[in-house]
Amino acid sequence: MELNLPKYVSDSLITIENAGFEAFCVGGAVRDLIMGLIPSDYDIATNAEPEIIMSIFPKTVPTGIRHGTVTVVTPHGNIEVTTYRTEGGYSNHRAPDNVHFVKSINDDLKRRDFTVNAICFNLKSGIFDPENGLDDIKSNTLRCIGNPNERFFDDALRIMRLFRFSAQLGFNIENDSLESAIRLSYLLESISVERIFVELKKAITSKQPDALSPLLFSGALEFLGLNATKIPNVINQLISDFSLRFSVLCHLFNTEAVSVLKNLKADNQTIDSVKIYTKLLNLPTITTKSELKRSLKFCSIEHIKGLFNYYNVLGTDISFLTKTLTEIVENKEPYLINHLAITGNDLIKSGFSGPEIGETLNRLLEIVIENPEQNHKENLLKLI
Ligand code: ATP
Ligand code: MG
Repeated sequence: MELNLPKYVSDSLITIENAGFEAFCVGGAVRDLIMGLIPSDYDIATNAEPEIIMSIFPKTVPTGIRHGTVTVVTPHGNIEVTTYRTEGGYSNHRAPDNVHFVKSINDDLKRRDFTVNAICFNLKSGIFDPENGLDDIKSNTLRCIGNPNERFFDDALRIMRLFRFSAQLGFNIENDSLESAIRLSYLLESISVERIFVELKKAITSKQPDALSPLLFSGALEFLGLNATKIPNVINQLISDFSLRFSVLCHLFNTEAVSVLKNLKADNQTIDSVKIYTKLLNLPTITTKSELKRSLKFCSIEHIKGLFNYYNVLGTDISFLTKTLTEIVENKEPYLINHLAITGNDLIKSGFSGPEIGETLNRLLEIVIENPEQNHKENLLKLI
């Protein structure tokens, strides 16, 4: 089987080979190319040590040099080049305390997580697949390399990765790997929450987020306050937006979405967006133009579109609502204080002061939300 590597990747393989070493493209990129997907990034495994890689490429960054990883920077993209290694000394079920460089690609492939992630390729040898990942791709199977108990015990992040890949690739999890992942899922408490969040986000925004259900059912993520026991089918049908999907999930399970995200040390932008969705989901279903404008007072058009997407998935006819939203936008109908034809200064000139300014503006806004044609300065001044 021939794989179509981008030229900057095959050129990099050749550069390493011309210096007298082995080099293979490996991991997710090979898996994705075999499956006809577009890889997100490219990894190379080599028997050349990091110092050699840094000396034969014009531009490199020693990203993870202690673990043998150097980033090769090319005008067409970056490539992570990692020296063949095994791992040792796991404390706390996290990534290894130390790594050892090894001579053979076979040993490097053995330390990887799943068979489908341990296929390698170069132009000289074609596909090299000692862990039989190709068969597992053919049968849509995720399977641990080696003994699943040991692999998850050494690095519990692999448990998250297992369900994340199952969600992204739509693969089934082989029985022993699944049983072991569920049995050891309590170990996730020892993994950094940031890394759990990265995997959770990838799984929730994937094509089959319901692949997370067995993990949720095990209660493994309850320590984060996430007490959903499964991913209902509606989540799969929503647009692939993390804050929408996550807010709906927590809404359906009466879970405090924001507190889960804070436990996960999520970024503020995500937290803010989830706060808004949570508020929208707790409102009665929007049915009128005025209700829609009142919602737009605290959220963006994108949030409203996300909410309508949820209504739609629930089977509600949203044609009136989408038409109304377009009208509001195209006709620039006022729904915010700063859309009003008068300002706080105008009110001060008319003798208002203190809190009555804000109160009056809000009352005027209510009037123009119902009747946009009333939004003229003279008219508003008359009204006050
Ligand atoms: P993607 O980049 O699409 O998320 P990937 O398979 O490339 O998926 P990476 O996290 O980029 O995943 O890792 C590259 C490769 O390194 C994997 O394919 C796997 O072979 C190996 N790997 C990564 N993390 C682990 C881990 N925790 N345990 C064992 N092997 C791992
Ligand atoms: Mg990758």
